Amino acid sequence: MTLSLDAVVEAPGRIFFDALRRRLTGSLHTHDEPGFDDIVSPWNLAVAMRPAAVVVARTAQDVVETVRFAGAHGLTTGVQATGHGAERSLAGHILIMTKGLDEVTVHPEGWARVGAGVKWAKLVAAAAPYGLAGVNGSTTDVSIVGYTTGGGVGPLARTYGINADRVRAFEVVTGDGVFRRVTPTEYPDLYFALRGGKGAAGIVTALEFDLIHMPSFYGGAIYFDGADAAAVIDRWRGWADALPEQGTTSFAIFQLPPLPEIPPPLAGRMTLGIRFLWTGEPSEGARLLNQIREVAPVILDDANLRPYTEIDHVHADPVDPMPVVDPSILLNGFPAEAAERLLTVAGPGSGSPQVIVEVRHLGGAYAREGAHPSAFSHRAARFSVLTVGMAVDETMAAGTLAHAREVFAALADWDTGGVWPNFGVPHDAVSARRSYDEPTLARLREIVDTYDPEGVLQAGAYTRAVA
Ligand SMILES: Cc1cc2nc3c(=O)[nH]c(=O)nc-3n(C[C@H](O)[C@H](O)[C@H](O)COP(=O)(O)OP(=O)(O)OC[C@H]3O[C@@H](n4cnc5c(N)ncnc54)[C@H](O)[C@@H]3O)c2cc1C
Repeated sequence: MTLSLDAVVEAPGRIFFDALRRRLTGSLHTHDEPGFDDIVSPWNLAVAMRPAAVVVARTAQDVVETVRFAGAHGLTTGVQATGHGAERSLAGHILIMTKGLDEVTVHPEGWARVGAGVKWAKLVAAAAPYGLAGVNGSTTDVSIVGYTTGGGVGPLARTYGINADRVRAFEVVTGDGVFRRVTPTEYPDLYFALRGGKGAAGIVTALEFDLIHMPSFYGGAIYFDGADAAAVIDRWRGWADALPEQGTTSFAIFQLPPLPEIPPPLAGRMTLGIRFLWTGEPSEGARLLNQIREVAPVILDDANLRPYTEIDHVHADPVDPMPVVDPSILLNGFPAEAAERLLTVAGPGSGSPQVIVEVRHLGGAYAREGAHPSAFSHRAARFSVLTVGMAVDETMAAGTLAHAREVFAALADWDTGGVWPNFGVPHDAVSARRSYDEPTLARLREIVDTYDPEGVLQAGAYTRAVA
């Protein structure tokens, strides 16, 4: 029997797991050991992880052993690299941590092989000496595998699309405990499911993917006082729509705390950041961004020609672990009326509690299907909207979430009803239907049933919830 997600269970203790511990190269820690909470603590501190045990895998075989052990004992397994996308407590079950799968090999001819625990930051540093880069997201602090299995939409999206479309091969352990190498021609069904379906169809142990030639780029962010948000966003809307595919842009309404590590112009007030990454001729990127610079006084200018290793300057996402609530929606348009409504609930004088309210402009290469079909839906979405607010305790979390819902209600006329799996991990019937269109969901369900008939992988449970 497989125990249900987050069921309240009497967690098995040390002795129960001894047989598994003996088979591992990595380590195993049970919930009754000192220091356990620190080991399982995710990046998003608002999610309390409560697994019965955690396996810190050193090899793909460790993952095989753990999945087989779980299957044999009616347990489920979940996977965590950094905990940036932590959603479920995994109460009573086995958490596989991949941070020990840390191989990074950059092939100078333009591709890389990475272990499942590797963050983008490590790849960026390893690829830079060859003038190469990966198509990463807004922060290099997340794992490449976690990001890519959810599609992966970042500040290069309009030029280079999603990273899932750049995958050459996965090495993966499926829920039946079998290690497989997956390419467009070997297990094409898994190749489909692992690109967008997150961990539903298997636990990836290594990934091989194409890089791009990009030693430097023109871009970063320019910041304005919140009082100028309406005028700047108004210019941004038409400007973004006219951008060639070499340009990817977003804006964010920030309310950053008055802390010493925050640049003084941005600390303790509402500001607006316009993010921009230009993959073409730098002087043309500067000319284009000047059209936004001229709208209002720029209080901090952080856009320039810079080495790719400074990619995190574009979004300037937080790095330290923190408790956050960060829901998201996708839009089919962002006309003047949408901008007005957004500013009414989240702009100056609105009383918004959100630290970040972000709108990303999509289209370009993002909108085109890759060379092989994938489980990534929502190519037609034109904008994504994300709110990030603090969730120090349950009352604060509820308030932050209630306000996020007001933001999304204000934009309801343009809401596609969808969400990226990376920005709202599918975990039940409702979230699954938002993450995937119906044919994709049906195919994912079939694939999960084939490779995980006993339902050992916690991440695939939602496919059965919609059956
Ligand atoms: C500050 C911040 C910025 C972000 N920016 C972007 C962005 O620009 N674009 C974007 O697309 N996403 C973005 N994300 C979302 C991020 O890509 C997802 O949260 C992603 O899941 C993080 O992966 P992780 O492995 O680091 O996190 P974890 O919490 O460790 O893993 C999250 C999930 O990823 C899957 N996963 C992880 N490892 C494996 C594995 N080995 N095998 C199979 N599945 C696995 C599982 O479903 C797991 O539950 C951002 C998140 C944060 C917090």
